[in-house]
Amino acid sequence: MDDQTVAQMLASGITFEVCIDCPGGGKAVYLIDVDQVRRWCADRDQFSAGHYGVSVDDFHLWLEHDGAPLCGASTAKGPLCSNQTSRSQLGIHEWLALHRAEYCRLHSGGGQ
Ligand SMILES: [Zn+2]
Repeated sequence: MDDQTVAQMLASGITFEVCIDCPGGGKAVYLIDVDQVRRWCADRDQFSAGHYGVSVDDFHLWLEHDGAPLCGASTAKGPLCSNQTSRSQLGIHEWLALHRAEYCRLHSGGGQ
């Protein structure tokens, strides 16, 4: 991508609006400089994770679970419990604080 052309477009008032994925839809974000345009075009997931200040893995997991934190208990057979512990579509930082940190009704108290 030609940085000079992008810089001229920005200087002339042309805006670059992108949609960052989030549970339930997307969030409109304006790209305000050449560096942001370049980073968005290179890797939108990396850009999006950086926008939220989280890792790409956490960003993907948050989308995959529709922002619903899951229970932190292991089942009797070993895998982690797949029950939700809160509503869906939480913000990513609230989701990160709760995901696998609390227990569902079946596992409350942390037992198996
Ligand atoms: Zn559970």
